Amino acid sequence: MLTDSQVAELRMLLQADRDRILSAAQDASSFSRDRDRTRIGRDSVDESAEEALYGTKLRLADRDSQTLNAIEMALVRLASGNLGECEECEEPIAFARLRARPMSRLCIECQEDQEDRS
Ligand SMILES: [Zn+2]
Repeated sequence: MLTDSQVAELRMLLQADRDRILSAAQDASSFSRDRDRTRIGRDSVDESAEEALYGTKLRLADRDSQTLNAIEMALVRLASGNLGECEECEEPIAFARLRARPMSRLCIECQEDQEDRS
């Protein structure tokens, strides 16, 4: 079981990761909006806003969106108190491992087993 301060630390790490991904997507979408606005011959604000939204979704459709999902799931597991438990063998995951990768769902042994199989 994780202590309260370990839970607080992991929550902070996860939220910082989530904020970083979201604000990176936000920056990228305002960049493409500015670029659209200066393009000659463009007159529809709605169109460029739509494009920016599409761009954000496109960017979030890749690896970041998977990471974001993993973060959300980790936060849910953290809230329900089973984040520090391996999904394979149900043994506790070392806190050092969780701190390095708060989204870890497997202990180091099971992770290595899985990597061997694939
Ligand atoms: Zn395990």
